[in-house]
Amino acid sequence: MDRVISLWNDGRDLLHGAPRTVLSLAGAWALAASLGATVQPWLLAPIGLAGAVALVVLARLARRLRALEGDLSQLTADQEALIHRHVLDDITGVMTRRAFLEAVSARLSARSSDEALAFFALDMDHLKPLNDSFGHRAGDFALSYIAQCIDQSFPGALIGRLGGDEFAFVLPCANERVALRLGRDFCCELNRPVMTGGRPLTLSASLGVVMVPERTVYLSEAMQFADIALYAAKRAGRNQIAAFDEEMMRDLKQRRLIERELRAAILLNELDIHYQPITGHDGRTISVEALLRWQSPSRGNISPAVFIPIAESTALIDQLGEWVLRRALSDARELPDLNISVNVSASQLRRDDVVDMVARVLRETGHPPRQLTLELTESVAIQATPDICRRLQALRDMGILVSLDDFGTGFSGFDYLRHLPVDSIKIDRSYIAKLGESDTDNVLVSALASVAGAMRLSVVAEGIENESQLLLAKAAGCTLFQGYFMARPMPKAAIVQRYRTEHARNQQETVSA
Ligand SMILES: [Mg+2]
Repeated sequence: MDRVISLWNDGRDLLHGAPRTVLSLAGAWALAASLGATVQPWLLAPIGLAGAVALVVLARLARRLRALEGDLSQLTADQEALIHRHVLDDITGVMTRRAFLEAVSARLSARSSDEALAFFALDMDHLKPLNDSFGHRAGDFALSYIAQCIDQSFPGALIGRLGGDEFAFVLPCANERVALRLGRDFCCELNRPVMTGGRPLTLSASLGVVMVPERTVYLSEAMQFADIALYAAKRAGRNQIAAFDEEMMRDLKQRRLIERELRAAILLNELDIHYQPITGHDGRTISVEALLRWQSPSRGNISPAVFIPIAESTALIDQLGEWVLRRALSDARELPDLNISVNVSASQLRRDDVVDMVARVLRETGHPPRQLTLELTESVAIQATPDICRRLQALRDMGILVSLDDFGTGFSGFDYLRHLPVDSIKIDRSYIAKLGESDTDNVLVSALASVAGAMRLSVVAEGIENESQLLLAKAAGCTLFQGYFMARPMPKAAIVQRYRTEHARNQQETVSA
């Protein structure tokens, strides 16, 4: 950029200088020519020569001038293109990050003391799956469509693309309530299906907003606060807006603290795994589910429902996932005939190296792949991109079983089962809890079990808490059973003890039979 500007200045100086030189030479010649009438004839020859020299110089200068003009017009076009690229984003046509920040900074300085502005941060939801499924052209289309939507919904707003799928925009706004309403209206507008490549595409975005000057008057803080609000909107389920408040700051600090402690807990081996039996029709243990436990010395028992989402929002989930798998498969050496179920999170499956990681841990522990089941939550199924399906298939090709956990909670129905490579489903505990309460619930579980059975999937009933639920689940056609009624999750030593006792009893029964 600086080079272009200096070239521009050099060119301009030359251009300005050249006419002056030409004019002074032409002036000298004209003066000489006019003197020609009064001077002596012997002076005419040198004057004529001077005139001829001036003419040659003039012609050369004119040529040079034309060349310079050509160079300069090219330079101006290049410079304009460069400035354009510096200010406006190629894909979306809104301001680049740098230009946006400069514009907002100027806008904040020019703000009158009683003027309120709303600073919005926006993240498009699910850009990566969109790119994975439909290619980068669809992703680019979505980004430019979002920019266009912001522009149309908020005329006159300063709009910038901060990078990737992140946008920000600033506009005058009376108060936070109005800003939230505008944000909600925008989400609805964006949710209208739009046609691209001959198919309808439904987009959504999460937004965070912070009011200036109510919460801050500084640009850096406005960006940070809007971002914190944005993540709150994402955590609350995306496709919505959240306004920043101080409580969020405390939440963030808390999350950062837990993240730091979790990192240390993995290193210090503070995490533990408990195992819950899954039994067959005859009550014998067929499998155990590995459940992660964290007993923090300072905070006591921290629920996986708290720390797993925190781990998922960072790369920590990969480390945690590998730790759980390695520990569970190592523990499984003392439970030789049992299958081990390990939960896998959606963010682990979004990474390509998950297949290599599982293969590596199986190799290191010597655990037979046939005796490993990976449990996915139904939300994974809903977000399953072709890449995720490919990874699941690669895992199944190794002989590993795949199970769909919490089935029935994500409105997925059976449609997902048709294209998702799975071997079993676990009917969610909420259905099992209602067994016996009404005929509808009984029929519903029977229907789930019979469709799954027809697709040759095993059906696990989870969350069985009493004998009547067990009997009804059996009658409904479920094949495997898990819940407090059979056994609670227990530490490794207890599960090994239970396994040995059961094993001895089974052998005795076989001998006496
Ligand atoms: Mg599970």
